[in-house]
Amino acid sequence: MSIPAGSLTVDQLYKSFGSLDVLAGISARIEPGEIVSLVGPSGCGKSTLLRLIAGLDRPDSGSLHLDGQAITGPSPRVGVIFQEPRLLPWLTVAQNVAFGLPRGKPNARVAALLRAVGLEEFAGALPRELSGGMAQRVAIARALAPGPEVLLLDEPFSSVDAFTRMHLQDLLLAIWRQEGATMLLVTHEIDEALYLSDRILVLSARPARRRVEVAVDVARPRDRRSPQLARLKAGVLTELYHEIGGAREWGGDRRLEVAGADPAAQSRGGGERAGIDAAGRGRDRQGGRGAEDGELLPGGVPGDLVSDPRVVSNAGSRRTP
Ligand code: ADP
Ligand code: MG
Repeated sequence: MSIPAGSLTVDQLYKSFGSLDVLAGISARIEPGEIVSLVGPSGCGKSTLLRLIAGLDRPDSGSLHLDGQAITGPSPRVGVIFQEPRLLPWLTVAQNVAFGLPRGKPNARVAALLRAVGLEEFAGALPRELSGGMAQRVAIARALAPGPEVLLLDEPFSSVDAFTRMHLQDLLLAIWRQEGATMLLVTHEIDEALYLSDRILVLSARPARRRVEVAVDVARPRDRRSPQLARLKAGVLTELYHEIGGAREWGGDRRLEVAGADPAAQSRGGGERAGIDAAGRGRDRQGGRGAEDGELLPGGVPGDLVSDPRVVSNAGSRRTP
């Protein structure tokens, strides 16, 4: 048995471009084999953070470590998957995957990866012969070829349709089980973050700070429609809306209307309500705003929902208790 590798530590990262402050003291620790999602307003600095972890750029200050070793540049131990597949158009599928491997390495690894992403039959095809989803599967295989301990994914499925996206998410989970890499995923799809991740880090608007962390304590395989995920989504949405100023439009302390347990709201035709405050007060492990009464608990679940049997029965069957 090998010692589990792939622990990632970023500590107090600051990054500016000229006068534009982009990262303002980001810290996080990701355990070997964890899947963590990063969500945050557009332009807040998510891709910048991923580029620093990939060693493609340097922070102004702060430190980055992989298994205790400082990250100082790109390394085969860290694989990156971008929004676009970025395949070399003149190389075949198999050659594109092999491109990530040291020269002269046997092609058994390439064949195994193509099998894992379901593209064995397309080994000899050129990128222009592939659909968007297939091309992205090649990009996944290429990133995995050197056996990275950490896989960074920057909105990897944003350019494919919704059905392909769900298929690719399941494929990614299957590969994660097989390869065991630590994954850090940037996504703007909260459903995707909830379906895939162990934890979700919600970043603030630029300059990015950690706003809140949500533990997705739900066993896999997950049901995308589960009330548990819906409740967590409400918490994440609250944080994000607050961050982009949207919570103001919902009014001061109005509550977010999602699957929940207020029969009065149902009789008013207002839908069910959860005890999640639309003002967005959440848990922040890095100081800043602390959790208040009735706010998100570890795990991101509002305290008053945890033991309320009406929540699950209402959300599941939409019956009044
Ligand atoms: P996100 O991925 O969260 O949408 P980015 O990390 O791509 O955001 O960008 C954060 C901010 O930094 C944006 O305002 C972007 O224009 C700026 N930025 C990113 N990279 C550079 C760069 N190389 N030079 C100047 N500004 C940059
Ligand atoms: Mg980005």
